[in-house]
Amino acid sequence: STAPEDMDPAVWEKVKNHPCYSEEAHHHYARMHVAVAPACNIQCNYCNRKYDCANESRPGVVSEKLTPEQASRKVLAVASTIPQMTVLGIAGPGDPLANPEKTFKTFDLIFNAAPDIKLCLSTNGLSLPDHVETIKKYNVDHVTITINMVDPEVGQHIYPWIYWNHKRVTGIEAARILHERQMLGLEMLTAAGILCKVNSVMIPGINDKHLVEVNKAVKSRGAFLHNIMPLISAPEHGTVFGLNGQRGPTAQELKALQDSCEGEMNMMRHCRQCRADAVGLLGEDRSSEFSTEKVMEMD
Ligand code: SF4
Ligand code: SF4
Repeated sequence: STAPEDMDPAVWEKVKNHPCYSEEAHHHYARMHVAVAPACNIQCNYCNRKYDCANESRPGVVSEKLTPEQASRKVLAVASTIPQMTVLGIAGPGDPLANPEKTFKTFDLIFNAAPDIKLCLSTNGLSLPDHVETIKKYNVDHVTITINMVDPEVGQHIYPWIYWNHKRVTGIEAARILHERQMLGLEMLTAAGILCKVNSVMIPGINDKHLVEVNKAVKSRGAFLHNIMPLISAPEHGTVFGLNGQRGPTAQELKALQDSCEGEMNMMRHCRQCRADAVGLLGEDRSSEFSTEKVMEMD
């Protein structure tokens, strides 16, 4: 569980104010996202690039893209209005680490202007090993990696391609590289004492049974929390899965899988699949109060 009495005090310090890492904190503390990262370096069959990265956000949502300067201004405006805002996450609209200049410029501005705000980021993991040093430099102590498979045979049905070393790689080879980079990145983060949440998208008939293996693999590499999310596959989102009629899991199927992973490690059950520019408590969205237009007027 994520109860304080079960935890190393150093770990508790990191989770107690983070709404995504502590079930308790999510009632009291808010996080916000800024959408500064438009590019992505892989393709997931549940993603349509017109919308936010579906790895950490609700599918079918379009966030307002910001420059790092606009983003930091917005964060400071929100922090002065919502004191419970303890965490700033970058989760899209593409992959934060496929846009390292924009992501780390944003972190740099906020780190210098408001050092108490905790920085957080989510990634598909492909370029994670290249950025662990920089992540440490900004005291980022929470990273989410979306890991949907630990077997490239399974992965080839989820990822049609990755962009790797300046070229497009497809098929099983793409899934193999992504898998190796995800495992390496996770190991490097846990070795550095950074808490890792793993998100997995449950796709019936593709990786649903396999996610028990994923749970074991990430636990053995020190992941702190595993969040199994349902595939949300509406045809109008225009994803490959949506157009092919791939269904999402039922609530019962999702719960059965979460139960079968329980006991292995902390499972997150309070995830609300928020938008890449979400503001507020989990399940609450105050992003419209803080549109760029409004923030630029505040001073
Ligand atoms: Fe889309 Fe995110 Fe997958 Fe990139 S990592 S293809 S933005 S869901
Ligand atoms: Fe929570 Fe993920 Fe956002 Fe971090 S990036 S604040 S873990 S939703």
